[in-house]
Amino acid sequence: MGYSGGIIPFNRPFMTGHETTYILEAHTNGQLAGNGPFTHRCHGWLEQYTGCKKALLTHSCTGALEMAALLLDLEPGDEVIMPSYTFVSTANAFVLRGAVPVFVDIRSDTLNIDETLIEGAITARTRAICVVHYAGVACDMNAIMAVAEKHGLAVVEDAAQAVMSSYQGRSLGGIGHLAAFSFHETKNVIAGEGGALLVNDERFVERAEIIWEKGTNRSSFFRGEVDKYTWIDLGSSFLPGELTAAFLWAQLEHAEEITTRRIAIWQQYHAAFASFEADGHVRRPLIPEGCAANAHMYYLLFPSLSERTSFIRAMRDDGIHTVFHYVPLHTSPAGQRFCRAHGAMRHTQDLADRIVRLPLWPGLEPYLDRVINCAQRYLG
Ligand SMILES: *Cc1c(COP(=O)(O)O)cnc(C)c1O
Repeated sequence: MGYSGGIIPFNRPFMTGHETTYILEAHTNGQLAGNGPFTHRCHGWLEQYTGCKKALLTHSCTGALEMAALLLDLEPGDEVIMPSYTFVSTANAFVLRGAVPVFVDIRSDTLNIDETLIEGAITARTRAICVVHYAGVACDMNAIMAVAEKHGLAVVEDAAQAVMSSYQGRSLGGIGHLAAFSFHETKNVIAGEGGALLVNDERFVERAEIIWEKGTNRSSFFRGEVDKYTWIDLGSSFLPGELTAAFLWAQLEHAEEITTRRIAIWQQYHAAFASFEADGHVRRPLIPEGCAANAHMYYLLFPSLSERTSFIRAMRDDGIHTVFHYVPLHTSPAGQRFCRAHGAMRHTQDLADRIVRLPLWPGLEPYLDRVINCAQRYLG
């Protein structure tokens, strides 16, 4: 799949070339519902790669986060500490259970949750901490797991952006009690729409499978562990069909190669903007010691909102699409209705106004010099 000129897009889904082969195989197998052979292959890969006790494919990372919220048995008014600088699903999944997301500020260096602010946000209602590994760069998991353990809280990793990243040698998604991956087409490893719940705490394994299969013991029934298949708990239809799993399998087989190509692009950007950072024109992403990142995104931080706005306009005039995100959740209409902010959100608001994401996709390589030249011309 090539890109054939015109505007250089911000994202372009990368295909390995094997997706249709496996989809055809699923078609020939004649099993199209979920939990079939391709689903099992993907589960095996995810379990081996992350070291989790159980992986379950879902229709989205959003779905996986909703499963995590169900597993935590949250009651109305229970609180979950998380960053405000994140995608809506991080909060929505818990709000659907009647819980209250409690936002704390992010660190200015990684844009991840500021681990030093978590303990001060804990109340008698706090049940969990949901961290987001922004741009595929790990949060300070040692500090976060220690606070959680001290206060008896669960940790959920929103690892939507973090497939193939690690922290002190451990795969992201394999550290918290529960974790969620995304295979949305804007992420590194894709299935169109797709995700996975990773269960690292043994206590959740059995119930996760029940929730996944609409609240039934269908999986144990098919394994011959029970002689009746019935409704036994809360649940929903979280699993994707086999066509999606077949597509994903082609991507997982090439996940290393996809990551390597993305990292090479990331490094070219990083080298190209080093002198501009030294001059104080922009700030580049920071990857802390001990973190290996998957090059999910490359961003630049401008000194002000107005400079960001004119950069995006200048790049667009040169035929290059760059984007920004997120509207901090504590300022969004639903965030104000359902959530609470703990403390000032100084870095959250400031960084959300100054960030720009550059195009990053395997296949961009022949056009990368053009993107870099345009950006450098603007900055120079
Ligand atoms: C993409 C993303 C999600 C949602 O993923 P879906 O698979 O589209 O549901 C959730 N959280 C974060 C941080 C994301 O980047």
